Amino acid sequence: MEAPRLYSTKPVQSLKPTKKIPLEEDTGKASDALPLPLYLTNALFFTLFFSVVYFLLSRWREKIRTSTPLHVVTFSDIIAILSFLASFIYLLGFFGIDFVQSLVFQSSPDVWIAEEEDDEVLLAKEDARKVPCGQALDCSLPPLPPVAPIVTVQKVVDEKPVTVLTEEDEEIIKSVVAGTTPSYSLESKLGDCKRAAAIRREALQRLIGKSLSGLPLDGFDYESILGQCCEMPVGYVQIPVGISGPLLVNGREYSVPMATTEGCLVASTNRGCKAIHLSGGATSVLLKDGMTRAPCVRFGTAKRAADLKLYLEDPDNFETLSVVFNRSSRFGRLQGIKCAIAGKNLYIRFTCSTGDAMGMNMVSKGVQNVLDFLQTDFPDMDVIGISGNYCSDKKPAAVNWIEGRGKSVVCEATIKGDVVRKVLKTSVESLVELNMLKNLTGSAMAGALGGFNAHASNIVAAIYIATGQDPAQNVESSHCITMMEAVNDGKDLHVSVTMPSIEVGTVGGGTQLASQSACLNLLGVKGASKETPGANSRTLATIVASAVLAGELSLMSAIAAGQLVKSHMKYNRSTKDVSKASS
Ligand code: ADP
Repeated sequence: MEAPRLYSTKPVQSLKPTKKIPLEEDTGKASDALPLPLYLTNALFFTLFFSVVYFLLSRWREKIRTSTPLHVVTFSDIIAILSFLASFIYLLGFFGIDFVQSLVFQSSPDVWIAEEEDDEVLLAKEDARKVPCGQALDCSLPPLPPVAPIVTVQKVVDEKPVTVLTEEDEEIIKSVVAGTTPSYSLESKLGDCKRAAAIRREALQRLIGKSLSGLPLDGFDYESILGQCCEMPVGYVQIPVGISGPLLVNGREYSVPMATTEGCLVASTNRGCKAIHLSGGATSVLLKDGMTRAPCVRFGTAKRAADLKLYLEDPDNFETLSVVFNRSSRFGRLQGIKCAIAGKNLYIRFTCSTGDAMGMNMVSKGVQNVLDFLQTDFPDMDVIGISGNYCSDKKPAAVNWIEGRGKSVVCEATIKGDVVRKVLKTSVESLVELNMLKNLTGSAMAGALGGFNAHASNIVAAIYIATGQDPAQNVESSHCITMMEAVNDGKDLHVSVTMPSIEVGTVGGGTQLASQSACLNLLGVKGASKETPGANSRTLATIVASAVLAGELSLMSAIAAGQLVKSHMKYNRSTKDVSKASS
């Protein structure tokens, strides 16, 4: 059976809005009920309503005077009653529903909506944030002066041709399906990454008998991932990027990009950013910066393994070892070696600075240099693997929690009591109690390893995906302990997050891809720092920790106020029929 051909020759569907949604505020425009301007329909129904009310009342009076029974109605009475009902329904629909709803629902506080007008005005005055607006405040800005129109990418997208397969491509697809051409060799054989992806995709659909429509192929630079980010591509997954902020940290404002499909997450983090901003900002301090790699080596005896441990940990040998290690890169600088022994086996944890790179490649190269060097003095050393899991990469491990890996950061803020009440809709006391019982005691009861927080991984994962970090390192990068304490005679809240192993880079890996690079640029940390190598990646780590602080504040507040489920129902539940989504 032949799968449907995916690549149509039709132009890409225009993304321009096809229909303007009529706004009721657009007075002078037709209402959606009648093809007349709103003010005319309103005037018509108002007049009708009061006229028939007057008419019916006079008829009533007349019937009482003439002793006519009320149920005896004339044709004009029937017309008047029907007109009364019609105008009543119209006026109720137009003016009444909101009023009724406001009466019924006014007592149910929304997570994001401000309740007290006066307080909000007060907070708005203090809120120096510019963009984007805090959700709970009226952020109406004065009208902007006219500016030159912004050139959007829309035109470019419209002009992009949709991939069309040729006769020659058809032959190659057949040979991939038949197994004569390996799918992985397409890029090198064709010298055109986009074409290789299109052919591989078509061959895959025919082999599997399933359509990949919905997974886009066009609109991506496949050359940019070759030999770096992804092998054998057949398309790319789209993840929306939301912005929370401005996040005020160390005196600077950041708009934080978050790639996520979890409704509520960006809105919630944004609320935390607002609470931090209104309280004067957060302070984020980098404590350590060193990537680790720990090979496993084996000897014939435990004594020999111990000999190597003593040699490696002897401060007198550090100079020699670092010269060997540092040959691997201009940026990789050996910081320390820590060994753990298990019988005849030795695990050697090398730590090094890596400039603006996350540093896994860099540290691995340095480690390889040292292992080659050691082989001369320890010829009986058997290298089991360059990674012996004592590193420890992409797995929850106490070594990272205690020793740190990548960037170790502590971030704090003092949130004013007023802000806790009016923006976070809870109290200092409730937050402190919840933090103690949930993040500390609850996590201890669960036997948590680095999980003494509410949802650090939510924020870490979203920023990692947006900025081209390795999302698998979310495991240890999300190790975090959240502390909350009442300060200033119990009026204000001191909150902190301590994160010992944030693994981020601004060069290498996925950071150089167009979308991810744009997100790094938004944060002002794109690429290698010109002035101080490593400064960009260190700043990024402090931003990650501060965004986690914002996320912790907001989620903890929602839980403390008992609003978590309600807000998720509002922001995280589609009203669409999901059964129809996957047809
Ligand atoms: P990783 O070690 O995170 O896997 P890569 O090895 O892929 O990263 O990328 C680091 C590369 O970028 C190295 O080749 C390094 O020489 C280069 N580079 C350029 N500028 C810097 C910088 N400021 N910091 C770190 N690496 C840099």
